Amino acid sequence: MSVNIIDQCVAQGVPFAREYGGLLSNRSFGGTQVQRTFYAAGQTGQQLLIGAYQALERQVALGNVKMYSRHEMLDIVIIDGKCRGVICRNLVTGELERHFGHAVLLCSGGYGNVFYLSTNAMGSNVTAIWKAHRKGAYFGNPCFTQIHPTCIPVSGDHQSKLTLMSESLRNDGRIWVPKKKGDTRKPNEIPEDERDYYLERRYPAFGNLVPRDVASRAAKERCDAGYGVGSSKQAVYLDYAAAIIRYGKIECGKQGITNPTEEQIRTLGKQVVKEKYGNLFDMYQKITGEDPYEVPMRIYPAVHYTMGGLWVDYELMTTVPGLYALGEANFSDHGANRLGASALMQGLADGYFVIPYTIGNYLADEIRTASISTDHPAFVEAEKQVSDRINRLMSIQGKQSPESFHKRLGKIMWDKCGMARNAEGLKQAITEIQELRKEFWSDLRVTGTIHEYNPELDKANRVADFMELGELMCIDALHRNESCGGHFREESQTEDGEAKRDDANFSYVAAWEWKGDSQWQLHKEELHFEVAKPSQRSYK
Ligand SMILES: Cc1cc2nc3c(=O)[nH]c(=O)nc-3n(C[C@H](O)[C@H](O)[C@H](O)COP(=O)(O)OP(=O)(O)OC[C@H]3O[C@@H](n4cnc5c(N)ncnc54)[C@H](O)[C@@H]3O)c2cc1C
Repeated sequence: MSVNIIDQCVAQGVPFAREYGGLLSNRSFGGTQVQRTFYAAGQTGQQLLIGAYQALERQVALGNVKMYSRHEMLDIVIIDGKCRGVICRNLVTGELERHFGHAVLLCSGGYGNVFYLSTNAMGSNVTAIWKAHRKGAYFGNPCFTQIHPTCIPVSGDHQSKLTLMSESLRNDGRIWVPKKKGDTRKPNEIPEDERDYYLERRYPAFGNLVPRDVASRAAKERCDAGYGVGSSKQAVYLDYAAAIIRYGKIECGKQGITNPTEEQIRTLGKQVVKEKYGNLFDMYQKITGEDPYEVPMRIYPAVHYTMGGLWVDYELMTTVPGLYALGEANFSDHGANRLGASALMQGLADGYFVIPYTIGNYLADEIRTASISTDHPAFVEAEKQVSDRINRLMSIQGKQSPESFHKRLGKIMWDKCGMARNAEGLKQAITEIQELRKEFWSDLRVTGTIHEYNPELDKANRVADFMELGELMCIDALHRNESCGGHFREESQTEDGEAKRDDANFSYVAAWEWKGDSQWQLHKEELHFEVAKPSQRSYK
């Protein structure tokens, strides 16, 4: 299917990198030892987005698709056991709207912002799938979160967003920390033999290209042990000095420069690096004020992707008939670990090559179902529930902003349900989140009014859902008493600190059913492996 996806994207105008002869080019990515990833410089995701977006706009212009921008879906409508529509809020006027559909597709993305700080867009949230969950859609593997190793480190309490440095940078960059604890020298003053290239040391077979979860944990381990760099000491170096020299020497050879000076080598090497990664280097320089061509970048892991999401079957239908979930919003495809570049693969596969075939199976049986009026009592009731909740949020009139609650929730999640988790921390987190939720519903202050453009109200609505989700994530992480992929339980590790899986007891998808406030029932979907069997991973 990946070939179809790439062809589809090329047809949409995505400028994938090509070889000299015109064929599409491949490069290495984390977790693989072969070059097999299609790419568009250091901004593949963005280019895919632009391609998909302009294809959508074309359909909008042709009148085939009606776009409702600045609208937020706040609930689903179920009639006779089938999903038949949604309730949306116009975010500019505050008006609630009812929309009927024979089926509903949720493509609302991931929920990494439950951690407050993440690489996700600020508008990403869980509300759409959470509302569906509360109305009967099971939530699969909620605790499976991907923490990306190469992000610009947190610089202080003022931040509300983290920036990803593309994984492609690990192709050529080398990751290291000083060998001496608490070393305060500048990176360029630390000689080669006093540097610990810890990924190359621990994982000689994969080196800097180990999968994201492994690279992230290794960075955390070094920083926790006191070897972190920068003012926060919560960072490691990503260094391009060796790549610049290596590429420079190759260029000198190509250009027939014999006995080049070091300056010539560096100048030509920088040009190659600039061509490959220039946009990322510029971004880093703008954010940190440091020149990564001269000084190693500082990086640290950050929340990036959520492998969990609404449980779906092979037709992408949730446990609510007629309700589908596509892309990052569902739990499928990645298990507990996602390798780089596969998110867009999944999103594009779901949208272009799965749902067009599967939804017909459902709609074929609905051919005699006439349009249902949005005056139907189920629409009236769903809209009333949304309206009541908005009124409740506005009427609390307490002292604390939605942002402050979000920040506190994020800290609990990051500290206790982040890169490493243990039973004691998770139990504490569950209690803390329950207390925070009580405080939220008694001391929240939403400024402005309902019938106007009011981002404070939008945020309050989302934070309320994040708090419920956060509790379920911790419950899921607590029950899964093994380590697997991005889910690292400290109690379940090998002697050398690697994730230790327990396939005998946990070879299932945990699908949670909402049963009321703080109550869920676990359903286990057993996993059967016929060709490839799960085994302890080793990158050594
Ligand atoms: C910085 C960054 C770089 C990445 N790079 C890559 C890469 O190179 N390769 C790769 O494979 N993956 C990459 N990913 C991951 C990939 O981009 C995402 O997994 C993918 O975009 C998810 O697509 P989606 O369509 O499922 O959701 P999204 O792209 O998140 O789209 C969801 C949309 O739904 C909207 N929405 C949410 N809730 C509601 C609601 N209640 N009502 C109405 N609308 C709503 C959102 O505003 C958003 O527009 C990257 C992610 C990030 C953050």
